[in-house]
Amino acid sequence: MGRQVRTRYAPSPTGYVHIGNLRTALYEYLVARSMNGKFILRIEDTDQERQVEDAVDVIYNMLKVCGLKYDEGPDIGGPYGPYIQSQRRDTYLPFAKELVEKGHAYYCFCSKERLESMRKEAESRGETFMYDRHCLRLSSEEVEEKLASGEPWVIRQKMPREGSTTFEDMVYGSITIENNMLEDQILIKSDGLPTYNFANVIDDHLMEITHVVRGSEYLTSTPKYNLLYDAFGWEKPVYIHLPLIVKPDGSKISKRKGDASFEDLLEMGFIAEAIVNYIALLGWSPEGTREIFSLAELEQAFDIRRISKSPSCFDIEKLRWFNAEYIRTMTPEKFYSLALPYLKEAITNKDIDLFKVSRLLHIRTEVLTEIPSKVGFFNELEDYDLGIYEHKKMKTNLENSLESLKAALPVLENLEPWNEETIHSSLLSLVESMGIKNGQMLWPVRTALSGWQVTPGGAIEIADILGKDESLRRIRIGIERLEKALA
Ligand code: GLU
Repeated sequence: MGRQVRTRYAPSPTGYVHIGNLRTALYEYLVARSMNGKFILRIEDTDQERQVEDAVDVIYNMLKVCGLKYDEGPDIGGPYGPYIQSQRRDTYLPFAKELVEKGHAYYCFCSKERLESMRKEAESRGETFMYDRHCLRLSSEEVEEKLASGEPWVIRQKMPREGSTTFEDMVYGSITIENNMLEDQILIKSDGLPTYNFANVIDDHLMEITHVVRGSEYLTSTPKYNLLYDAFGWEKPVYIHLPLIVKPDGSKISKRKGDASFEDLLEMGFIAEAIVNYIALLGWSPEGTREIFSLAELEQAFDIRRISKSPSCFDIEKLRWFNAEYIRTMTPEKFYSLALPYLKEAITNKDIDLFKVSRLLHIRTEVLTEIPSKVGFFNELEDYDLGIYEHKKMKTNLENSLESLKAALPVLENLEPWNEETIHSSLLSLVESMGIKNGQMLWPVRTALSGWQVTPGGAIEIADILGKDESLRRIRIGIERLEKALA
């Protein structure tokens, strides 16, 4: 029996959730759930130069909207708390001091200016700057003296200079890094707070994390973390690094370049379930060809061994397809509740039954934000170009459109009650008695009712929603305009 599986989502709060962060959270969650483990939320805020206001709320909200319930976290507590690193500030220094004593770390007193000038010099030679271990040479007396005199200090990790460090990643296999590539990174900063790199390892250990899931940009840092585990003599977690997510043109996704964050996608009219489903497939593939998975189904199907290491492509068109699928299969009531804010944006006329309008849109909608542009004609009849009465396939022109409208008007004026069934049967018996094609009646009526060339729903549904008075008014306007044009 191994340890109980414990994973954590450990975001640094930035104020928005990048697609890659969402995928990390989702996979951490799925690894835990698929192995009967615990999923923990930990906020890594010790490295933040500026705290983005409400940044943590953005993270809570994303997890909630996506249904990623965590078993322990800042707002719900748990046996390993607190779960916000800035509230654990006193935890880390004693561990760093332990490393100094064991010879795996050392105090560094180098000034910002010294480091900056060395960095510039290295850059001018086209090299990446690595700290030159200046302070490693200090004797313990010198260190004591400097500490006693109150000189500012940091604690750095002492990396081995020789050899290499190898670790096994569950996705990428065996990874080896030459130790001389590893910088003596800072563990405790001059403000006494740990760097992200240090706090991350300490907390993963203290919180008994068994599986670390994160983006492949951390692959090359992992040897540094492992050297820390070794220095303390701690058991290392299993590593699961996830492939890069790129755009269809192969470039990286970045908020700065205007690529959508999770919040942006919601605002663009995508629904959380569809986003989660699509994101789950960016790097993981189930057996078989099935693509639609609810979160509960993902929990069952997910398998770490089916994570791929090749970059996965985030294609917003593919996400639209998922979104349309989710919309299509939801209940009319659920769709109505999601569509309502968008319907209200375009339709202020209180006589219009918005539930009926949502029924017309339901199977035709890919993203919610497209709704307002599809239903404005219900609100009011705008001026329209008479050319839209002409339709080749329907065999309509201005003349026969006028005839149909003139024939329909008295029939509809006398229609009681007014509903889809009665409108349907009255117009179709008129078609029969006139000996024309259905389209020659329904196209002109729909056009007169909407003034639009393309509408969700046809003449009958639109007439029903507009109601008798408004439908008759619009048909009369159509007749008047066509008569004028043909006179
Ligand atoms: N705080 C890190 C981040 O936001 C976490 C990396 C990790 O999961 O170890 O990227």
